Amino acid sequence: MGVKYIPEPFRIKMVETIKVLSREEREEALKRAKYNMFYLAGEECYIDLLTDSGTNAMSQEQWAGVMRGDEAYAGSSSYYKLVDAGKDIFGYEYIQPVHQGRAAEKVLFPILLGEGKYSISNMHFDTTRAHVELSGARAIDCTVEEASDPSLRVPFKGNMDTEKLEKLILQYGPENIGVVVMTITNNSAGGQPVSLANVRETAAICKKYGILFNIDAARYAENAFFVKQREEECKNMSIKEIIKTMFSYADTFTMSAKKDTIVNMGGLLGVKEDTELFQKIKGRTISFEGFISYGGLSGRDLEALAIGLYEGLDENYLRYRIGQMEYLAGRLDDAGIAYQAPVGGHGVFIDAKAMFPHIPYYEFPGQALAIELYREAGIRTCDIGSYMLGNDPDTKKQLKADFEFTRLAIPRRVYTQAHIDIMADALIAIKERAASVKGYKITWEPPILRHFQAYLESIE
Ligand SMILES: *Cc1c(COP(=O)(O)O)cnc(C)c1O
Repeated sequence: MGVKYIPEPFRIKMVETIKVLSREEREEALKRAKYNMFYLAGEECYIDLLTDSGTNAMSQEQWAGVMRGDEAYAGSSSYYKLVDAGKDIFGYEYIQPVHQGRAAEKVLFPILLGEGKYSISNMHFDTTRAHVELSGARAIDCTVEEASDPSLRVPFKGNMDTEKLEKLILQYGPENIGVVVMTITNNSAGGQPVSLANVRETAAICKKYGILFNIDAARYAENAFFVKQREEECKNMSIKEIIKTMFSYADTFTMSAKKDTIVNMGGLLGVKEDTELFQKIKGRTISFEGFISYGGLSGRDLEALAIGLYEGLDENYLRYRIGQMEYLAGRLDDAGIAYQAPVGGHGVFIDAKAMFPHIPYYEFPGQALAIELYREAGIRTCDIGSYMLGNDPDTKKQLKADFEFTRLAIPRRVYTQAHIDIMADALIAIKERAASVKGYKITWEPPILRHFQAYLESIE
């Protein structure tokens, strides 16, 4: 009963006022937004849990770094500082800044993929899947079976199913697998961690068949914290040692720095040692992102990013951060509300299928719960389920996701215990009237990444 809240290891020096709209105003806002959370204005949201991406609060050190940012077009000192930090933490020879995670994907994937090729992952994040498909290739998810049962509490639900991986490689032909992607933590499976042992095994399979192994590294630090807690061989290692060891098994990494690096914008691409590959990356970076020493970012962004790379590794911070998730999950356990358990690193993924058993996947239970959370308490969240997954690129038919989650993504260093209690109270109130909640249908959608832009309507 009741998980203790771990106090914030910081105090607050600058505040941002937030306001709550009335119930009628929220209903109006939903209607205007066509029941798509991405069309709500930020100011219409009391607690904004749409994403933990770029919504972080920077530290006084990072803000001081912003003032020191060197805006030289070529060879800025902030660039060198960032490259040094990247080399030091990940142990890779080449570090390329880009403007965010999907930019890293856009630069790297067409080099590895194309028509007739495949990418296999423990689970492709939505933009990752999009960039695989935009290159003409196909994305195959290969998550461990345990991940699809939200109530099953096992330590590494984010893992790759390595037996299945080898079968898929043989089925499609090793020469057709352009890349294997390990997403740490496994975002779409609920911020679930991946073990060091699983990374090692996956790397060995990639090596055996000569396939490039890429880490999708957005949550490298949260993953390392879980590994330290849950994996025997790592319990006496520092967070930094765990990260360096894990990355030593891969060939490249793509990273959205808007997550664990605690900045508002940025991304990285890392190449362990392949000079030729890095040369190609530099060429594409210059075309799409800008010159290699800024990669679509300002000097001040590079500086804040270099500092954030280290702040994200602080164990006191990580204990508080993961502690917030555990506290919220504890309140949901007490109330009998199902979520992807044990709770992951960057948010709580509510099992909307369990909350609304009467809403089928093609009427989007995860989106229905997101709408109810806004209606109930002005909390903005998003669907991580069939609504986000979209249609099969070949048959155009609605795909059925393994889970129907509503994600409460928690921004870093932003909300307090009182806010977390409001989240729990809102979910408990919705559970009480769950049977009366209806599903939704799409009235307009674009062909790719539709959840950002689609229009919806309630099914009466
Ligand atoms: C956020 C994210 C991305 C994409 O990064 P952006 O910075 O949003 O472009 C890719 N992969 C994972 C796992 C992510 O969480």
